Amino acid sequence: MCTSSDPYGWIRQSLKTIHKANWHRTVQPVSGKSGPTITVAGRSMLNFASNDYLGLAGDDRLVRQAIAATKTYGTGSTGSRLLSGQRPLHHALEQAIAQLKSTEDAIVFSSGYLANIGTVTALTSRRDLVLSDEYNHSSLKNGASLSGATVIAYRHCDLEDLATQLVAHRTAYRRCLILTDGVFGMDGDVCPLPEILALAERFEAMVMIDEAHSAGVLGKTGAGCAEHFGCGHRPMVQMGTLSKAFASLGGYVAGSAELIDFLRNRAPSWIYTTGLSPADTAAALAAIAVLKQEPNRLTQLQENAQYLSEKLDCTVLNLPLKRQQIVKRLPSDSAIICLQVRDTATVLRLGNALKQQGIFVSVVRPPTVPVSRLRMSVMATHERSHLDRCAEAVEQVLNAIEAS
Ligand SMILES: *Cc1c(COP(=O)(O)O)cnc(C)c1O
Repeated sequence: MCTSSDPYGWIRQSLKTIHKANWHRTVQPVSGKSGPTITVAGRSMLNFASNDYLGLAGDDRLVRQAIAATKTYGTGSTGSRLLSGQRPLHHALEQAIAQLKSTEDAIVFSSGYLANIGTVTALTSRRDLVLSDEYNHSSLKNGASLSGATVIAYRHCDLEDLATQLVAHRTAYRRCLILTDGVFGMDGDVCPLPEILALAERFEAMVMIDEAHSAGVLGKTGAGCAEHFGCGHRPMVQMGTLSKAFASLGGYVAGSAELIDFLRNRAPSWIYTTGLSPADTAAALAAIAVLKQEPNRLTQLQENAQYLSEKLDCTVLNLPLKRQQIVKRLPSDSAIICLQVRDTATVLRLGNALKQQGIFVSVVRPPTVPVSRLRMSVMATHERSHLDRCAEAVEQVLNAIEAS
């Protein structure tokens, strides 16, 4: 029997709504290797939009190791780690991560997203409480809702609100897990980790920190926020990705030997998915080795971020008053630098104007963030002249845009 209504018709309506709100997004092809300059849609541009913080995604040493691993082990790992998917490279990578993080052990997932989903669902369930920073990454939020635990979002980096929620709710639940990004990916600020750990201790709660944008970026050896704050030795669940500073693919959790053994037995997104490919595993392993051999990459990254951050602070401060109402510098202590822009139409125009000037930045809009922004990420391999050109271009487009 046929009916006249189209069960997929709502998709067209929904897309119309997305377009109307200026929320519609499309992909932009980048050709060639990643680096401080890249080719976007056939045009060479300065790259301020990648997560390749250490500038390793195009590094010959990583490329060679990935090729060697492919020649040795083939292209796929052919099964889940517990069945046929384990290679010696996986163990070597997990040991290298544990060493970098100064933890007893580590476990590598096939992506950071899977690491978060698998870990949060393994650690909590229906009788438990998850307290999650409102700006946490989508993978932490989805992990929390999949777990079946009661989830409460506390205000962004607000310790008072976190304490209030703990006082009000902690005793009604069996376990409690506090979730926070280390560096917030769409803002660039750093979580108050020592204070969060202190509250967790007081209320017998676990803490899981997502170091996606801080591992390979913060800390003396690049171990992330935990090292930056001198908290690496505290009991905690330290998650991170291999897809950003480590220029590959995959995610990890580092922590006590018991925690890691437990995850191998209880994290569904590790047990029931194919192991990381030999090429990705070898590339990540090579990235960690380069970070150790060339600590100046890390200091250069930190210096570059500081330099561009200060330049953009000046740019915004020097804007005519009327234009200062359009943009706002968000506080940052990382390699992510954001300029919040009042509305989506303006942020799109600014992003396009920067592209015209050969500067590639991310335009981030709702629903990813509450208020639109231009997001710039700094690399260790940016030269001073690249950073200067970026700051100059931002100044120009901010002055040229119609203050409507
Ligand atoms: C990128 C990111 C992830 C996901 O990592 P992938 O390896 O890309 O899947 C998780 N958490 C945060 C905070 C991220 O920025």
